[in-house]
Amino acid sequence: MVKLKPVLGIIGGGQLGSMLATAAKKLKIKTIILSDDPKAPAKNFCDKIIVSEYNKQKTIEDFASKVDVITFEFENIPFKVLEHISKLKPVFPKPSINQIVQNRFTEKKFINNTGIKTTNYALIRNQSDISNNEDLFPGLLKTCTLGYDGKGQFVLKNKEEASELKIEFDKEYILEKKVNLKKEISVVITRFLNNDFVIYEPIENLHVNQILNRSIIPANVSKDIFEKAQQQAKLIAEELDYIGTMCVEYFIDEKNNLLVNEIAPRVHNSGHLTINTHNVSQFENHIRAVCDLEKRELKKICNAEMINVIGADIKNYRGKSYFKNEFFFDYLKSEIKEKRKMGHLTIVKL
Ligand code: ADP
Ligand code: MG
Repeated sequence: MVKLKPVLGIIGGGQLGSMLATAAKKLKIKTIILSDDPKAPAKNFCDKIIVSEYNKQKTIEDFASKVDVITFEFENIPFKVLEHISKLKPVFPKPSINQIVQNRFTEKKFINNTGIKTTNYALIRNQSDISNNEDLFPGLLKTCTLGYDGKGQFVLKNKEEASELKIEFDKEYILEKKVNLKKEISVVITRFLNNDFVIYEPIENLHVNQILNRSIIPANVSKDIFEKAQQQAKLIAEELDYIGTMCVEYFIDEKNNLLVNEIAPRVHNSGHLTINTHNVSQFENHIRAVCDLEKRELKKICNAEMINVIGADIKNYRGKSYFKNEFFFDYLKSEIKEKRKMGHLTIVKL
């Protein structure tokens, strides 16, 4: 009997949703996107878009009734919403994973429980929690939930600077010791329903103002770090019983310690270059995993560097002509905003 291809529901309509929908189309899988933004860029790439707030039960049920399997492009969908949806149709990765990684404190505790090192950190609920953790300065104070691209983060030299912020402790924070970074890398891994997996080589990442600026393969790291980073990403994926593509972001400190920074339970910005560097991209692998298609052996085709195009810089990239080894992706966002990821350029190196 021929297995029918499922219709895939994707929650979220940003650039990751666009690239997932594009990968699905290549595999002849229909996609329906649920987004709260009528101008969501992914509407240009999917088969159908349903525009609704994420907590509107009726539209969510309508969305679920139209698809066979559901995934998402961003991890901050309220856990209750994801859990409700998962009672209607299978959701991959499973919502309980989001519950862990949506919160920087529970995420770090989970990672440490697997025996893997992170930065030193403390949960901050009030001013005295800051005073009691003087050894974590210089440090970064981060909201436990809903931060991305450096949003909700304060770089602080000392506790005096923290008190000047006059934080209203209406939400929880973590204080993380600032790492003297030698390098940042990430590992993208895709795990399939039969527990099989494919893993990409570590990607070297350069951040500017806490936003990813460039990603490069090969990462300039030792064999030891290369292997350890892949082993840790595999262990984390297994411990989470993860299905789909995920990414582990790492810090390497000046003493060559490998520390996990955070887990992204989704396709990741640093993995965009896999569209051009591998026979199967992180997006296609995600679709293959969540739709239970066969795994293909991963093959690297070339090296590359990916440059994020942020804010008004997009104007310099649109309408430009490119060399044969340059691939420009315009996210087709309706509005240019400062610090907003607007597109990326991948430069392939043979
Ligand atoms: P986001 O969820 O916004 O990606 P991250 O925690 O990954 O937040 O922080 C973004 C970037 O800020 C990191 O990739 C790194 O460059 C810098 N950063 C964050 N935490 C630390 C830290 N403890 N020490 C040094 N740099 C940090
Ligand atoms: Mg990050």
